[in-house]
Amino acid sequence: MIYFKEYLKPKNLQEAYEVLTSKNAKIIGGATFLKLSNQSFETAIDLIDAKLDFIRESENEIEIGAMVTLSEFGDNPIISNLYNGFLKNITENILSFQMRNLITVGGTIFPKFGFSDLITGLLVLETEVHLYKNGKIRLEDFLNTKIQKDILEKITIKKKPLAVSFKNIKNSEYDFSIINIAVSKSENEVKIAVGARPAMAVLITKDLNFFEDIDKAVESLLNKIKFSDDLRASKIYRQKVCKALLKRALREVIQ
Ligand SMILES: Cc1cc2nc3c(=O)[nH]c(=O)nc-3n(C[C@H](O)[C@H](O)[C@H](O)COP(=O)(O)OP(=O)(O)OC[C@H]3O[C@@H](n4cnc5c(N)ncnc54)[C@H](O)[C@@H]3O)c2cc1C
Repeated sequence: MIYFKEYLKPKNLQEAYEVLTSKNAKIIGGATFLKLSNQSFETAIDLIDAKLDFIRESENEIEIGAMVTLSEFGDNPIISNLYNGFLKNITENILSFQMRNLITVGGTIFPKFGFSDLITGLLVLETEVHLYKNGKIRLEDFLNTKIQKDILEKITIKKKPLAVSFKNIKNSEYDFSIINIAVSKSENEVKIAVGARPAMAVLITKDLNFFEDIDKAVESLLNKIKFSDDLRASKIYRQKVCKALLKRALREVIQ
């Protein structure tokens, strides 16, 4: 159970950040993950009134506010038309409709959960994270940077011509992925993200030439990715599943 003494709904991020840095306070997205923890805070900062529930498209990029729920995200025509529903399909398979009505984009990206399916998918696109204090950071750099007190305002995705594929495997429908992978191919480059290893997703970028022999390329890539055991799967099982999924995804985007 999570406990708060005070509940605030700031109207903007300046107000939210002042409270976050001056009190023992916690940002709330959908509270779906937070309420599973056993913690006490002085103040809950609910961003519901901070006008972060937008999805906008310009000529070069798509902007998604931190308080957009996964249901709104998947149902939005801008997202469902992007790469033939690549991101919509990822989020539609996360938990139930009722939970996706609560879960927010901010609460999914900011905590850098290792099991996150959405982070793995976004890594192979050109995604940037916009933080109130630390500004704009590429998603892959954000994942490798220690950021304690900040607020995720929005993410942006650059519109680029890409062929993409996402694969994952779970023990049961509502469980976390045992492994998740995403692949994107541009004119001469391939990006591969592997998450739920069970650690945080990693991103590998290679020239298209590297994949002339996909079987050989995958063997070489697997030597560079670290897998571990947890209660869902062993390291060896993860490696074997990753190998099969990676080959399938690469064949989809390359051949
Ligand atoms: C039972 C269960 C099963 C799940 N299964 C999957 C799965 O299979 N695949 C998958 O990808 N995900 C899964 N998730 C994770 C889910 O997709 C969300 O990532 C998670 O629940 C948090 O979403 P939320 O909006 O409720 O965040 P919250 O619980 O409100 O917050 C989570 C953390 O993020 C911080 N935070 C929230 N918003 C912001 C912001 N704007 N700026 C800064 N910090 C912020 C909070 O302070 C907190 O530390 C699962 C979650 C649960 C509870």
